[in-house]
Amino acid sequence: MSNPRIVIVGAGFGGIAAAIELQKHGFDELTLLEAAPEIGGTWFHNTYPGAACDVPSQLYSFSFAQRRDWPRLCPRQEEILVYLRQVARDFGVAERVICGTRVSACRWSDADQAWTVATQSGATYAADALILATGQLHQPSFPRVEGAESFAGHSFHSARWDHHYPLAGKRVAVVGTGASAVQFVPEIVEEVAHLTVFQRTGNWFMPRKNRPYPRVVRAAVQTVPGLQSARRAFWFHYGELLTFAIRHPGTVGKVVHQASKAFMRWQLKDPVVREQVWPDYTFGCKRVLFGSNFLPALQREHVELVTDAVAGMAAEGVVTADGRLHPVDCVIWGTGFKTNDFMFGMEITGSGGRSLREAWTGGAHAHLGLTVPGFPSMFVMYGPNTNTSGGSIITYLEAQARYLRQALQELRRRGAGAIVVRPEVEAASDRELQARFAGTAWTRCDSWYRDDSGRIVANWPGYMREYLKATELLDPGDFAFLPGAT
Ligand code: NAP
Repeated sequence: MSNPRIVIVGAGFGGIAAAIELQKHGFDELTLLEAAPEIGGTWFHNTYPGAACDVPSQLYSFSFAQRRDWPRLCPRQEEILVYLRQVARDFGVAERVICGTRVSACRWSDADQAWTVATQSGATYAADALILATGQLHQPSFPRVEGAESFAGHSFHSARWDHHYPLAGKRVAVVGTGASAVQFVPEIVEEVAHLTVFQRTGNWFMPRKNRPYPRVVRAAVQTVPGLQSARRAFWFHYGELLTFAIRHPGTVGKVVHQASKAFMRWQLKDPVVREQVWPDYTFGCKRVLFGSNFLPALQREHVELVTDAVAGMAAEGVVTADGRLHPVDCVIWGTGFKTNDFMFGMEITGSGGRSLREAWTGGAHAHLGLTVPGFPSMFVMYGPNTNTSGGSIITYLEAQARYLRQALQELRRRGAGAIVVRPEVEAASDRELQARFAGTAWTRCDSWYRDDSGRIVANWPGYMREYLKATELLDPGDFAFLPGAT
């Protein structure tokens, strides 16, 4: 196949990374389908106050599109969005994105050796290769709460922030204390009349102030040769150090844990709140939260931290398991995403009419997070076991883009119809990967990294450098090449 038709589902960082890599290597029959009205993925949807990345900008940006004018260490949502759109334009892939197009189903035809991608509007696209770049964190998760429909106030999810609803002077409930809530609670605490924060599990914290750079730092980054790349290298190794701590909770993990404890003790002056917040699980098991403003916000006079479980809702507010009614005007669900669903807003059907849902009944798995047996010429960006607890997802996405580009080059070189990972290769790499979790902090509590059976399906168990190495050179022997349709 000289020039395969490629459909990429999703135009966030993953889809854009894949498109740039493929286009650079001469694959120009490329279409990106994006459900949202604009490019951006998670950075389009998450506009809550204070939304930012807690990974420094030098690392949370493409290696091939570094910019020196980030105004602060950790980029804000709007800055990231502007960056991603600019990169998409600069590399000539923006015009390949069809926005406002929600994919409902992708079906492989053994007879045609091709994918048919169907959209909600009824349009279809034929593709020789399919790249699913919908990410792990795109379907907002709402807990099933009894009586939710009886609530007379207003409510919304943090990933679909209602900017038209004025919070000023209102009694507000926030359910959840994860990475999103930690960013938006300090931003809204000032304006609300009363804030009730419902916490199910406490978190380990590390400091993060993220003030705009002083002028001298900005000037140095612009003018000192090598400074930008040195900073990028520094943050790469810092991320690896965090992974080192998570991989070795009994040794290095203890040292980093001490630093987190000291920071939290210093921030938590109120002994009651301190006791409520203090986590009871191994440092690094859940995502460590970077924020210097959340714990102080919890100790404000007009803020109440509630650790009783949310049991139901009444017209007036939230009811906790102890039977208490917490009257509020608005509930903000900071309850995260349906992470184990992967791209299950869509029906994906592979060879022999087998659905991906069926293939993944025992938990999602894919060779290097990218390829699934029985799903020819299909690649998943940010697929199973490619999330990181230390480092930047952009590093992984670039590696995935290079790997799938090699797969398609091999397909092109051989003139084959499709490429599909061998089941025994995928099974072996999955076994090896799962075994690498043994002894790590990730195994020591429940978290969104696991599926219902307890299997860790979100995270890569090692270092960024290991993933880069594993994906650097595609081994054609790991794949079967199917003849083209006759
Ligand atoms: P999250 O980390 O999954 O947090 C969800 C929160 O809701 C948790 O505190 C969870 O408690 C709580 N929760 C869920 N169901 C509940 C229920 N029924 N009752 C009470 N509490 C409930 O979600 P998120 O904060 O939106 O963040 C998701 C991910 O997005 C992060 O882990 C991170 O990877 C990414 N993110 C990154 C950044 C960044 O700066 N890079 C910023 C925001 C988000 P439990 O802990 O008990 O489950």
